[in-house]
Amino acid sequence: MLDHPDLQRLAKAAPFLWLNGGYQQTQSKGSELSLADMQAAEQRLQRFAPLLQQLFPELSEAKGLIESALLPAPKMQQQLASSSAFSGTLLIKADHQLPVAGSIKARGGIYEVLCFAEALALEQGLLSAGDNYGCLLEPAAKKRFSEYQVSVGSTGNLGLSIGLMAAALGFKASVHMSVEAKAWKKQRLRQHGVEVIEHSDDYSRAVAAGRQIAADDPKAYFVDDENSRRLFLGYSVAALRLQRQLQAQGIRVDAEHPLMVYLPCGVGGAPGGICFGLKQLFGDFVHCFFAEPTQAPCMLLGMASEFKDDLSVYDLGLSIHTEADGLAVGQASAFVGGLMQPLLSGIYTVSDAQMFKDLKRLYQSEGHKIEPSAAAGFSGPDRLLNSPAGASYLEAQQLQHCIAGATHLVWTTGGSLVPDAVYRAWLD
Ligand SMILES: *Cc1c(COP(=O)(O)O)cnc(C)c1O
Repeated sequence: MLDHPDLQRLAKAAPFLWLNGGYQQTQSKGSELSLADMQAAEQRLQRFAPLLQQLFPELSEAKGLIESALLPAPKMQQQLASSSAFSGTLLIKADHQLPVAGSIKARGGIYEVLCFAEALALEQGLLSAGDNYGCLLEPAAKKRFSEYQVSVGSTGNLGLSIGLMAAALGFKASVHMSVEAKAWKKQRLRQHGVEVIEHSDDYSRAVAAGRQIAADDPKAYFVDDENSRRLFLGYSVAALRLQRQLQAQGIRVDAEHPLMVYLPCGVGGAPGGICFGLKQLFGDFVHCFFAEPTQAPCMLLGMASEFKDDLSVYDLGLSIHTEADGLAVGQASAFVGGLMQPLLSGIYTVSDAQMFKDLKRLYQSEGHKIEPSAAAGFSGPDRLLNSPAGASYLEAQQLQHCIAGATHLVWTTGGSLVPDAVYRAWLD
């Protein structure tokens, strides 16, 4: 397997765009998850909205919905167009400003904690159908929740999202952090009463350790980032919300106006859930590309090798080391990879140097502060519009004639909680 040309290319750690040979233009509907599952997830979030609004004052304007803006980015578009040919319109989906957890992880992580809380509360008679979920904040419910432990393995942001939400509901919360996790994320969790267990190993090992500890405890619930359908569906709700935002802003998505979406990818749940959701809603009119660090291209490795031989990026001689801590993953989720096989257009790799360049360009042009992981998306339009692989994709999908009418949507996945000193050091 390691002599496969795509893998040899990955091992060189030079940025490139890989096209997914499994991509299918009108997919068969035989997936294990459906639009109805997404809608059910959205309704669950709606039921919890009053509770979330009570817990987090920052959600009051949005009435308890955790959502980010869809923003124009004309100055960043100029920046992109000044370094290489650009056509179409650049937009930003600003998850770096997502309330409560400051990253895309707020979508899936918080959703999964709410799923667990709802099921437990119904089972224990703390809640009946039709109740205002605010009742879960009363002392009796909190006391019961405090007997249970919610845990997760994380490179940082998922731990923040799960830990903060679980602790706010009264659960004991513990986060197994991989060696890449940033000190300020651990500190913030501890301040909120979350137990942080530090591992000297990478992300996959931190997850395995957390999974093992929780398996031995009947009152422990482990959020399994590598296999979780709940996380995946929580992320997918973003697609329904984006659809409304596009409509409200009069942005067309159709045969003449394709939507090209660029999503930073770690283990795969967040970008996978969103890609899945967008494909349910927009079908062939949306084209999703994942972005990964050159030193940690785990989803590209998994999909190109069809998840055979249990390969990790170390097997390619790569280090996994990247300042994009949210993407520092050695092995992607095979569950997500399987779902992506007919849906995903391609994956491109990005050097840390390029991420920092785009982090800075975005700050100087639009004033947004994002973390390095979140900057990986901005290489996407150039890769699609100015590489031989990109040209062959546009040709195969018959998009050349309408690419000027395309919307390039870069998903900025994290950053608003980053301390100023840390951000300034990145700018320098
Ligand atoms: C986790 C993360 C991602 C990727 O999500 P996965 O579910 O791990 O693929 C992207 N950006 C940021 C900032 C993240 O924290």
